[in-house]
Amino acid sequence: MNASLSDLKEWKLKALTDIWTGDAERRGDRLIPTGLLGSIRWWFEVLVRGLGGKACDPSDSHNRCPQDSRKKPTDPGHHCVVCELFGCTGWARKFRLMVLDSQGQVIQGQIKANTEFTLRFVALRTIREEEWCLLDLTMRLLADYGAIGGKTVLKPSNEQGRQNAFHHRDFGLIQYLSAPDGWSCARSQSELTAYVCDTQWRKPPDTSGPQGQTHDFSWASLQNFWCVKGRYLARQYAVESTFNQVIGRKERKKQAQQLESDTPVNRWLAGRQQESKKVFSFKAGGRRTFGFVKPGTVEFDEIKQRLRNVWSGFNPDSEFKEGDNILSELFRLRQSSEGGAP
Ligand SMILES: [Zn+2]
Repeated sequence: MNASLSDLKEWKLKALTDIWTGDAERRGDRLIPTGLLGSIRWWFEVLVRGLGGKACDPSDSHNRCPQDSRKKPTDPGHHCVVCELFGCTGWARKFRLMVLDSQGQVIQGQIKANTEFTLRFVALRTIREEEWCLLDLTMRLLADYGAIGGKTVLKPSNEQGRQNAFHHRDFGLIQYLSAPDGWSCARSQSELTAYVCDTQWRKPPDTSGPQGQTHDFSWASLQNFWCVKGRYLARQYAVESTFNQVIGRKERKKQAQQLESDTPVNRWLAGRQQESKKVFSFKAGGRRTFGFVKPGTVEFDEIKQRLRNVWSGFNPDSEFKEGDNILSELFRLRQSSEGGAP
């Protein structure tokens, strides 16, 4: 089943900050499509879980697809709905990603702030309308509420002389300029929900590992996501950091790896070693703070209270957006850019 060569879609985006697509060794000028792909896939997983679907964690050998190698790739339950598009062992990714500049040339170096670029998805096999729609919503989520590289993003600083230190620079904020030419998603929210929840997809468990709890990633769902625009968290001085205050670490720089008090909430928000923090903040590109909660461990109310403690004049009712509301907003954004079409 070969897709036609003309089956490609291009999203036009603009970098509001430099985009970091490199690895921990700071080789940000390389690996552009690979780095972007990892991040797009991660937000696609967040969206799929937000719609009630299940997504495996490809970084976890106990959880990734396929779980049962006796199944054929086309058998129901071989892989999850995310792997259907992004691929897994035995089942190739359905598209090739090209990153182009405004002249249509492949971008070789790092994408710098204030440049427009195009993500071209070339279908290698048939990509369903539902999958294109989910990709479009992922781009909007990334651009309007998250960031590319949201998993590894670092924290900003207001400390004298530290603002421009590498590990305090903001990366990965983008603006959504336009959907693919002549295309708009022809599927409703309920149709996409039905697609991601279909029984043909593997439903990976929420936790994995020998004790069933060594690696829990089910929190990475749009249902648990929150975002505040126009405000950021940072270290102010060597002894003061609103960022650490919110995630529950000690504010003094020399003790910043220690928890303020050893509670389940702080343990989860701050993340242990090798784990992601659950709060991300950007000073550049219009300012933005976002993160996740984990029902049963950390609720939205706890986050709102912590933010109220560090931001003067903060009004959660108007400034704090969460879960389902963001999902509805994404669908509304889609409609408004189509000129009100359903
Ligand atoms: Zn999977």
